[in-house]
Amino acid sequence: MISAVLPTYNRAPLAFVKGEGSWLITQEGSRYLDLGAGIAVNALGHAHPALVAALTEQAGQLWHVSNLYQIPQQQQLAEMLVDKTFADTVFFTNSGTEAAELAIKMARKYHYERGQADRVQILSFDGAFHGRSTGAIAAAGSEKMTKGFGPLMPGFRQLPWGDHAALQAAITDQTCAVIIEPIQGEGGIRVVPDQCLKGLRDLCDSTGTLLIFDEVQCGVGRSGKLFAHEWAGVTPDIMMVAKGIGGGFPLGAVLATEAAASGMVAGSHGSTYGGNPLGCAVGLAVLQIVAEDSFLDAVSQKSAQFRQGLEGLVAAHPQVFEAVRGQGLILGLKCKASNLDIVKAAYGEHLLTVPAADNVIRLLPALNISAPEITEALARLDRAATALEATL
Ligand SMILES: *Cc1c(COP(=O)(O)O)cnc(C)c1O
Repeated sequence: MISAVLPTYNRAPLAFVKGEGSWLITQEGSRYLDLGAGIAVNALGHAHPALVAALTEQAGQLWHVSNLYQIPQQQQLAEMLVDKTFADTVFFTNSGTEAAELAIKMARKYHYERGQADRVQILSFDGAFHGRSTGAIAAAGSEKMTKGFGPLMPGFRQLPWGDHAALQAAITDQTCAVIIEPIQGEGGIRVVPDQCLKGLRDLCDSTGTLLIFDEVQCGVGRSGKLFAHEWAGVTPDIMMVAKGIGGGFPLGAVLATEAAASGMVAGSHGSTYGGNPLGCAVGLAVLQIVAEDSFLDAVSQKSAQFRQGLEGLVAAHPQVFEAVRGQGLILGLKCKASNLDIVKAAYGEHLLTVPAADNVIRLLPALNISAPEITEALARLDRAATALEATL
């Protein structure tokens, strides 16, 4: 018999009733060190006092009003994002998928309004993940996500990751946009080298193609910069944000330049819940902390500590681990043993990690994880690897 919850997830037999910082606690009181953070969502860990205060304060005032009216919290959050990024304008959503939908629509409308209605093709890359809507699965294109859901929305083409010649050849007068994660998350923590992002920007500029960065997973401080593309010193025309921006409250956004957004006018897009006062109050509280230079510097310092320890684990457990990947606190361990077995062995040490494609386990801790907690995480991972080795 089908379960009451649609069985689209392989769930671990674990349920948590409380969270404190980087820790999750079961009904029985067992404490798990959380290196998943809700898949890069709980940017400030669980139950951060500033976020709890922002949420509860707003909850006592006003939860929801329609976008038919001014929403001061939304205005303030948009201004803060505009102030701190390449963007001139922001639309708020409730998820990364919805951000993907708007990014696709906005890019196509841009060319349409410029009299190039046939520039609809959007190029993406192997291993990409942009969400689960019909548009977003067409964009990512993998068989795993698209099989059985056809006909797929036309106008997308996937290219091999890291193949510059294929990309150059694929851009035609029908090309609308290129969509790319500066650091692939689901695809296995694959960092696009700075030089490649620069080359991609140049290619888009010279062909009038819009560049869309999907920073749903790698954005909001996770890379050690507010947004990962800042490392390369290039900016997109359109950017998708979600996950960390709400710190656990469902919130997403599309950021764009004035030019890229120029096709979007009253009536071209909307959302009932997007930009509601509750979500934006929390988003403001998150950004006020995460966007501080000192906070971002601390992310990079913790990253250095974590990476050094992980390199040690790779050296100590060559049958289990192969290499360290990532930037900031979006880290991955390319595995020799099965990544799913390692995730399971880590459960045994009360450590939560997240599998990804390419036989990788992801380490996406709260950005405010402490140095001793990183040391503890490394010790638990070491024990998990030793336990797994005994079974190989
Ligand atoms: C999670 C994710 C999405 C989809 O976000 P949802 O909030 O799950 O809809 C899109 N792109 C990337 C890179 C993601 O990691």
